[in-house]
Amino acid sequence: MTQLSGPVPTVDEHHLDRRFYPHGIAFMDGQYLAMSEAKISVLDWGFLHSDATYDTVHVWNGRFFRLDLHLDRFWGGMKRLRMKQPYDREQVASILNNCVALSGHKAAYVEMICTRGSSPTFSRDPRQAENRFIAFAVPFGSVANEEQLEKGLRVAISETVRIPPKSVDPAIKNYHWLDLVKGLFDAYDRGAETALILDTNGHVAEGPGFNVFLVRDGALRTPAFGVLPGITRRTVFDLCAEIGLSATATDISRAEIKDADEVFITSTAGGIMPVTHIDDVAIAKGQVGPITRRLMDLYWQKHDDPVWSTAVIYP
Ligand code: PLP
Repeated sequence: MTQLSGPVPTVDEHHLDRRFYPHGIAFMDGQYLAMSEAKISVLDWGFLHSDATYDTVHVWNGRFFRLDLHLDRFWGGMKRLRMKQPYDREQVASILNNCVALSGHKAAYVEMICTRGSSPTFSRDPRQAENRFIAFAVPFGSVANEEQLEKGLRVAISETVRIPPKSVDPAIKNYHWLDLVKGLFDAYDRGAETALILDTNGHVAEGPGFNVFLVRDGALRTPAFGVLPGITRRTVFDLCAEIGLSATATDISRAEIKDADEVFITSTAGGIMPVTHIDDVAIAKGQVGPITRRLMDLYWQKHDDPVWSTAVIYP
């Protein structure tokens, strides 16, 4: 039997905070809190059943990038999940602003979350749950580190199949990540840095927190089916329209992506990020391609443009 006697370990609050809580500000239950104070009940169905939707927008140089598109997607997710929370769109925008402003971050990763919550009577009926709204702002984070942005990522295609859209609508941004995490472990086992997983038809779908594009003969393609309609993906379409490049959403086979001239991934966490190796194949001779570079430059330039971004109001 396990012995329970012996010294009780003490918790070094400071150490705990630094390891698990980046500097940031959260909003929950009507209050702004340090990240270390923002905690939910283990009975919240967001935690117990992954019954939640969320969105992540980033702030760069003190400006939100495409905030309206993120709010639209968040509201669409809540509607489809039949969730309601007490704040309207303007109030949520101002809560997000306040989280960033109170944190002082000029480059931030800003999340808005709606969980099913739980029922005050512990009923199992989701209609009786009180939905919960949470928001937070922490330092900007990226799928790719600086070296990977410069040299390109090494990606492995995992045999893991993304949860089918008929089970979970990918347009509802969600935390059903067991397939993506399995893909990630497959990729690590094969010496890669991240993963692409497949759709139910065996085509390339997406990866843990990102969409994917290929470039072939000057035209761009991205998977159409079974993926989150990413805001960065949408931004790539908008940038292509602006500079006269063709971009289409279609099925992409594993062979096609490995035979591409260029490949990149897209996410709010990092923007447009080059891929230079897929499994054992070097893409663009292992170099970051010219169209990827051009789009990366343009993407970051748009962050200071008031048509694409909104200034955070700092105190
Ligand atoms: N696909 C998945 C599964 C994601 O979780 C994300 C972002 O978290 C993306 C794609 C990229 O979406 P966005 O460009 O809106 O960040």
